[in-house]
Amino acid sequence: MLRDITYQGDQLSSGAMRYRSRLRAIALGCVLAAVACLGYGVWLLVPHVRLQMQTKAIEATVVRSDLIKEHDSRGYLLYGLSATFLYELAGKSSVNVAKSLDQTYAWAAEKKEQDTYSPKSRHLIRYETAKPEQIYLDGGLTWVHWKPSLLAALGALLFLTMGWFLRSLARAPRGCASCRGELEDYFKFCPFCGATIQAK
Ligand SMILES: [Zn+2]
Repeated sequence: MLRDITYQGDQLSSGAMRYRSRLRAIALGCVLAAVACLGYGVWLLVPHVRLQMQTKAIEATVVRSDLIKEHDSRGYLLYGLSATFLYELAGKSSVNVAKSLDQTYAWAAEKKEQDTYSPKSRHLIRYETAKPEQIYLDGGLTWVHWKPSLLAALGALLFLTMGWFLRSLARAPRGCASCRGELEDYFKFCPFCGATIQAK
């Protein structure tokens, strides 16, 4: 008799349980996507954080600036900027070439960048404290470098919120007091352990 009743309970609830376990799987997918987003954001920031730690900023004068063209692995043209700077460090002036860390597929954007680094204009560059002749055009933690990582973090937050929402939808209406199995509201017996369920 008891077995019959629990069996029926099982049948009735299996649809709802399957639905909840599917929701939980999607919620888990959301959490994994959030982790991937966060990882991507951190990975984007790493070179800039490294540069921030190993370099110092200094004001320098542009001697000349050139667009550099490179092919990516698929053969598309990538543009970067190479600029020669004159700067003074500990009373000694040096002339060195700095290359942009980031390259772009947009020629117009890089041309604009080149125009900002016109000869005789002054800019903040960064030099390696251990190797002052090694200089960099950009780098350091400026907003331009934060933005993509911030967007990735926002994406992660969105995925987490979605995952949390789905997880709360997937919560069973009640739990069995003796085996913690998932129970539907109308169950009189637990389908897992057969315990009688106290009406609320
Ligand atoms: Zn139970």
